[in-house]
Amino acid sequence: MPELDADPVGRQHRLDAVAEAVRECTRCPLHRSRIQGVPGTGPVTARLMAVGEAPGENEDRQGRPFVGAAGSLLTGLLQGIGLSRDDIFITNVLKSRPPLNRDPLPEEVAACAPYLDLQIALIRPRVILLLGRHALARLVPGAEPISRCHGRPIRTEGRVYLPVYHPAAALYNGGLLATLREDFARLDQLLQELEAASPVESAPDVQQLALF
Ligand code: URA
Repeated sequence: MPELDADPVGRQHRLDAVAEAVRECTRCPLHRSRIQGVPGTGPVTARLMAVGEAPGENEDRQGRPFVGAAGSLLTGLLQGIGLSRDDIFITNVLKSRPPLNRDPLPEEVAACAPYLDLQIALIRPRVILLLGRHALARLVPGAEPISRCHGRPIRTEGRVYLPVYHPAAALYNGGLLATLREDFARLDQLLQELEAASPVESAPDVQQLALF
């Protein structure tokens, strides 16, 4: 169905189907402890996609990503460079909340991987903003630690990633806020450069990705 994939309406329907599959997902034991799956929010036409770690308590209750304190900070950082949350697609490596917000387990990351891969393939974002080390490890395996590579674009396999510290880290360590602001200024610059250059998009064909 190549015509469907080129058509934003068709891609939006497929993105909605991924969201429905996340809400019904039982691929790992987290479905027993979560309130609901949190697929992500934003349009299929988003030029920027932000990927965090996993839903927390507020996200689990509301079914939307980044709605707690870290989310307010993220919204402010985006607004600071003239972006509205509504214009970008926001999601997480894990779509279900780990108990007590513990780190994702490798088997949970693997179980959730097809959802994130499909979302990226359908949205074809210009830039993928990696919020924290779990998003970095999931999408750029073998990358340098986030303390070394934050704020510098990583171009690989036809995609452009920008790793930044997770906003929650700045809630605990106020010193990181200035670093995050600098890295978001770099994001603004990167988006403008890419828009000016209008590169050919080369995300993998969604036909090559299967959920099950
Ligand atoms: N932290 C995350 O990584 N994701 C959310 O959705 C909320 C907080």
